[in-house]
Amino acid sequence: MGEHTGTRELPLLPLRGLLVYPSMVLHLDVGREKSVKALERAMVDDNYILLSTQEEVQVEEPDVEQIYPVGTVARVKQMLKLPNGTIRVLVEGIQRARIEEFLQKDEYFYVSITYLQETSENQNEIEALVRTVLQHFEQYIKISKKVSPETLSSVSDIEEPGRMADVIASHLPLKMKDKQDVLEETDIYKRLEILLTILNNEREVLELERRIGQRVKKQMEKTQKEYYLREQMKAIQKELGDREGRGGEIEELRAQLNESDAPERIKTKLEKEIDRLEKMPATSAESSVVRTYIDTLLSLPWSVNTEDNLDIAHAEAILDEDHYGLEKPKERMLEYLAVKKLVSQIQGPILCLVGPPGVGKTSLAKSIARAMERQFVRISLGGVRDEAEIRGHRRTYVGAMPGRIIQGMRSAKTVNPVFLLDEIDKLASDFRGDPASALLEVLDPNQNDKFSDHYVEETYDLTNVIFITTANTLHTIPRPLLDRMETIEISGYTEVEKLKIMQGYLLPKNMETHGISKDKLKVSEEAMMKIVRQYTREAGVRNLNREAANLCRKAAKILVSGEKKRVVVTPKTLENLLGKPRFRYGLAEVEDQIGSVTGLAWTQVGGDTLSVEVSVYPGKGNFTLTGQLGDVMKESAQAAFSYIRSRATEWKIDQEFLEKHDIHIHAPEGAIPKDGPSAGITMATAILSALTNIAVRKEVGMTGEITLRGRVLPIGGLKEKVLSAHRAGLTTIIFPKDNEKDLEDIPDSVRDEMTFHAVEHMDEVIKYAFVTGKTEKKK
Ligand code: ADP
Repeated sequence: MGEHTGTRELPLLPLRGLLVYPSMVLHLDVGREKSVKALERAMVDDNYILLSTQEEVQVEEPDVEQIYPVGTVARVKQMLKLPNGTIRVLVEGIQRARIEEFLQKDEYFYVSITYLQETSENQNEIEALVRTVLQHFEQYIKISKKVSPETLSSVSDIEEPGRMADVIASHLPLKMKDKQDVLEETDIYKRLEILLTILNNEREVLELERRIGQRVKKQMEKTQKEYYLREQMKAIQKELGDREGRGGEIEELRAQLNESDAPERIKTKLEKEIDRLEKMPATSAESSVVRTYIDTLLSLPWSVNTEDNLDIAHAEAILDEDHYGLEKPKERMLEYLAVKKLVSQIQGPILCLVGPPGVGKTSLAKSIARAMERQFVRISLGGVRDEAEIRGHRRTYVGAMPGRIIQGMRSAKTVNPVFLLDEIDKLASDFRGDPASALLEVLDPNQNDKFSDHYVEETYDLTNVIFITTANTLHTIPRPLLDRMETIEISGYTEVEKLKIMQGYLLPKNMETHGISKDKLKVSEEAMMKIVRQYTREAGVRNLNREAANLCRKAAKILVSGEKKRVVVTPKTLENLLGKPRFRYGLAEVEDQIGSVTGLAWTQVGGDTLSVEVSVYPGKGNFTLTGQLGDVMKESAQAAFSYIRSRATEWKIDQEFLEKHDIHIHAPEGAIPKDGPSAGITMATAILSALTNIAVRKEVGMTGEITLRGRVLPIGGLKEKVLSAHRAGLTTIIFPKDNEKDLEDIPDSVRDEMTFHAVEHMDEVIKYAFVTGKTEKKK
């Protein structure tokens, strides 16, 4: 502008923290008394006033020296008294001026000033500099974001370079000293230079600020993110009821590990696993796998054992207390204990209890555990076809588990339980590996101190375990396994034995579990016998036990309902409680029959009777077999028939008759499939009876293999067969002479009630079986 020249006198308004450049228009709030007075003076004069900044903002009453000597002459355009006593003025900066002299300082400052003139010598250079300044200002605006972009356009519209410099300076957040420097510089080029330096500085500072800011922000974001996620995790854990969180869990595991009886190598391994677990997120799938593994190994017994009670008398008492009879197995058990007493580590074979279901194999094993005061565990091998079921799955499988042996040990909680491997004859094997070979390792005392389970990964010592196995039959046990075992056979019970078991064991036990005291239920011996004979038909006592429980339930109902104070069961009242008898006692025919013979069979579930029926009718000499017959039995039927044909003339049977008739053999009895050659003589007898029309004695049961020449060959399972014949009410047994030695095994009570005919040839069979006693042979 620079329209004023020379000097003049003016009131002075010292500014605090503020600097006004020429051409700026702005509001000022004036409160200090001196300043108000200066304003008033200006209003009295021509509204002109000098605005000069004081060096220190804090100073209330600045001295002359504390006021910058260069200021801006301004015109007061408006004045407004505010309620709080201050005055708001609108001022417009006019021109730079230097204070020459303070004319008055007391009431208000009154000074004489010289107007300053701007100089701009080199227009081109100024022009260039203006551009640079504008560029820098533009960049500054971009970075700082403190100045609006519109300011840039309004600034670049200013044509006078000096004024532009002032406006830019007024927009920058500068120190007062810098602003004053811009104000005091009257050379426009130099003023622009100062501004450029300031802008450069500012920009650098801003860059730096921005970089720092970004770094800080990144840092902040990261920590904030983590914080946020952690909080979220806490919330999830809380929702899942995992209040303690990881910390507690890990500590607990460490404490458990401390108390564990595991050997050092296992402990070291578990320590590592716990460390690993600690680093995993609590909810991850992997962590639950690790957790399960640690739990499994911690819950395994490694050295905890029970003290053996090897007192033979005590053991005998317990075995007798739990079981009636079973002399042989009991004896063998006691021998076992005796040996155990002498040598701590028994190297002998594994005991295998063989017999039909329900004869007390499992409960005998349990008794042994009780007698020795060991823990008892039982696993069933029935249908186990996968090696992994014995040895477990590798941990890498999802849902992997240790094998049954280790699981059994886990539930035993000691390293020396009695371990029953049930149904070892039902082991299967297929492409998934051979469970039998894995079992071999389990049962071999030379190997089982280092039993390896895929899941556990570490070897496990099974040497202190007493293994006992059970089986229904020996045929299906894999040979190598069988070689490891000493078999103890428990065949079925006789009626009398069953009666004793019912009386002394099953009924009292069931009464106790049903809460019936001794005086409340009386079952007569006859009633018990009726249960044995007409409600059950089995080698063991499983169903008998069931009927005992049934009886107790029925009695309990009567007692509780108050119907009676005491229940007495006789054969007559029995049917009211247990319903109609399930079996007709004595399968033996009521009358002697033609073409129907009772054979004796041996099955996996014990002995059984088997009725063979033959009918002859006109035809073409064909031969038919129906019923539950195995292949061996069919062949044996063929042999029997061939034998009879070859001797037909002797039996007065016409060859022509044979050619014009069909023979049909049928074995109707058949819930359990029967097979084997031992029905040979039975079928031969039935065929002959049908062909000759001679009846067969109803009380006869027979067993024996037949050759084409009619010789009778020995068979197996005579004891079971005789017991079943006895159960069925037969009184005469025809059996191979070679089996005579087996008669010893048959309990006296049964033997005394029956007649036995040991035979070598079919002729003898006929002699004893046919009603006539003897068929006339054609000489
Ligand atoms: P298994 O294992 O041979 O199939 P269990 O051991 O399960 O037979 O026996 C079935 C039930 O019969 C058990 O309650 C058992 O106590 C009982 N039992 C079997 N034999 C006898 C016995 N000789 N004396 C007393 N109870 C017996």
